[in-house]
Amino acid sequence: MVTWPGNKKFAFSIVDDTDCSTLANAPIVYDYLNQCGLKTTKSVWIFDGETREDNKRIIGTTCQDKQYLDWVLKLKGQGFEIALHSSSWSRSERDRVINALDVFKSYFGKDPTMLVQHTDTKHNESMYWGANRVGGVNKLIYKAIMSFKGRQKNIYHGESSHSPYFWGDVCKDRIKYVRNFVCSDVNTLKVCPIMPYHDPQRRYVNLWFASSEGPDVNSFNACISEQNQRRLENEGGACIVYTHFGTDFVLNGTLNADFKELIAKLSKKDGWFVPASELLDYLVEKNGDRIISNSERSRLERMWLWHKLRTGTS
Ligand SMILES: [Zn+2]
Repeated sequence: MVTWPGNKKFAFSIVDDTDCSTLANAPIVYDYLNQCGLKTTKSVWIFDGETREDNKRIIGTTCQDKQYLDWVLKLKGQGFEIALHSSSWSRSERDRVINALDVFKSYFGKDPTMLVQHTDTKHNESMYWGANRVGGVNKLIYKAIMSFKGRQKNIYHGESSHSPYFWGDVCKDRIKYVRNFVCSDVNTLKVCPIMPYHDPQRRYVNLWFASSEGPDVNSFNACISEQNQRRLENEGGACIVYTHFGTDFVLNGTLNADFKELIAKLSKKDGWFVPASELLDYLVEKNGDRIISNSERSRLERMWLWHKLRTGTS
C-alpha cells in the first residue's frame, strides 16, 4: 500500500477530455469542483478543426476562442492542471502539432506535462493508438473487435517516422505523461500498480498511465459511487477517472444532482485531491522510473481488451 502525502488515506484525480466542452457547460462543473476543493486536470484543444457530419457531436470550444482561453487561464490560476488533448479535434501534420505545442507554451508558460490523445476516425497523428495500443496476439484480438464494430483500418501514425503525421520525437522531448489503458475499477493503481511506466516497445512516450472509466455522467457517478469511495479509501488506493465533462454533466445550465452529491461526499473524506500529473509525479518520486515487462504489458492489454469488449468506450 502506498503512503500518501499528509497521511491522507487515498488519492483521487480526474482527467477531463475536452470533447463537447464550451463556456455554457464546463465552468459550471469546474466552479463546483473548485468549491469542493477538488483540483483536477482539464485538457484543451489549441486550434479549431474541420466540421464534418460525423464529428459535430464531439466538437467543443478551443483556445482559439479568447473568452474560453481566459477562462482556462483562470482555472490554471485556481490550481487546476491544463493538459493537451491533441492540437485539434481534426488531424494535424507534424508542423501543426509543433505549432500547437508552441502556442500551448505561450499561453500556459510551459509545455503540457500530460497528453490525452483524442480519438476520431480521422485523427491520424495519435501515437501508438488504435490497434497499436496493444501487441502480438492482443493486436489480432483488437482488430477482430474493431472489425466486428465495422472499424477496420488503423489510421494512427504519430510514431511512424515515414509519415507526415510523425511527431514521436517531439513528444519524447516535450511531454512527460500520456494516457493509455482504461479499467472499470475505481482503484486505478490497483489495476496498474506499475504506473507511471515506460514501455521500451513504445519509446517515444516517456511515461504511460492508466485511468478508470467514467466517460459520461452515469458511468462517472457509478465509478465514484459511495460504495466505491469506501473501497478506494479502505484500499488506500489512487483513482484517476477519465471523463468528458462537456457531455451530459450539465443539462440546461444545471449540474447533475447525483454528481454533486457524490463529489460533495468524496471531498469530505480524508483524500489527497490533486491534479493527475501531481499524483503521477508523487508515484515517480516514491518508486523511481519503472519499465514495464512483457508479461505485465500483456496482462494490462488483456484487461483493457476485455473491458473494451464489455463496456469500454475509451
Ligand atoms: Zn476527445
